[in-house]
Amino acid sequence: MGKQSKGKCRFCGKEYTKASMMKHVSSCLECIKELEQNENEKTCGYFGLVITGKHDKSYWLITEFREDATLKDVDQFLRDIWLECCGHLSSFEILGITYDRDPDPFDDWGHPVKSMNCKLKSVIKKGMTFEYEYDFGSSTDLVISVFGYRGGKWKKDRFTILSRNNPISYICDECGEKPATAVCAQCIYEGMGMLCDDCQKDHECGEELLLPVCNSPRVGVCGYEGSLKYPD
Ligand SMILES: [Zn+2]
Ligand SMILES: [Zn+2]
Ligand SMILES: [Zn+2]
Ligand SMILES: [Zn+2]
Repeated sequence: MGKQSKGKCRFCGKEYTKASMMKHVSSCLECIKELEQNENEKTCGYFGLVITGKHDKSYWLITEFREDATLKDVDQFLRDIWLECCGHLSSFEILGITYDRDPDPFDDWGHPVKSMNCKLKSVIKKGMTFEYEYDFGSSTDLVISVFGYRGGKWKKDRFTILSRNNPISYICDECGEKPATAVCAQCIYEGMGMLCDDCQKDHECGEELLLPVCNSPRVGVCGYEGSLKYPD
């Protein structure tokens, strides 16, 4: 699939690729007006975070998080929009330290492990890139880059989604013609899991292995069926 997937700016609606959108969100006047729209005089810092599928870069999210939000807030957001299937473990890896939801102070290898319950401003800064993993078995790996930092008025929302890739359309792997509407959780491992309506009917693995096609790097993995909170 094309790595140059586009997405829409949440505020002005213009469409760009990920790299152009990262520039756009800091200059889009509409965006800034929206983000600053409140009476609050309290100020706060915000990190611009771009989150990308490690193995499929056509999936991306451009977000802004309040600097006093925690890694746990980021984890919860990623679960809600892209990942949650059956409550698997997850962790961040930042400058050689692992951040878990419920940490043992050291893992089996003597590697330092801390809690995700820490504020972003105490662990990240602009220009940094770090990694995230959901489900240590059938894992989904993400790369997170801190592409921006700005001061602004305090907002109640701990984060704002500025843009995400448009849903990606796949062609059926069996007939090579029609658009895929389901994915076989077995065949996906051989890169043959995308199926159109017709080819699903007599697919050899059976219907119980079919999952919906959804806008997430976890499409077709474990029991992932897409996000209820942030549909496409
Ligand atoms: Zn815009
Ligand atoms: Zn699962
Ligand atoms: Zn087909
Ligand atoms: Zn199959």
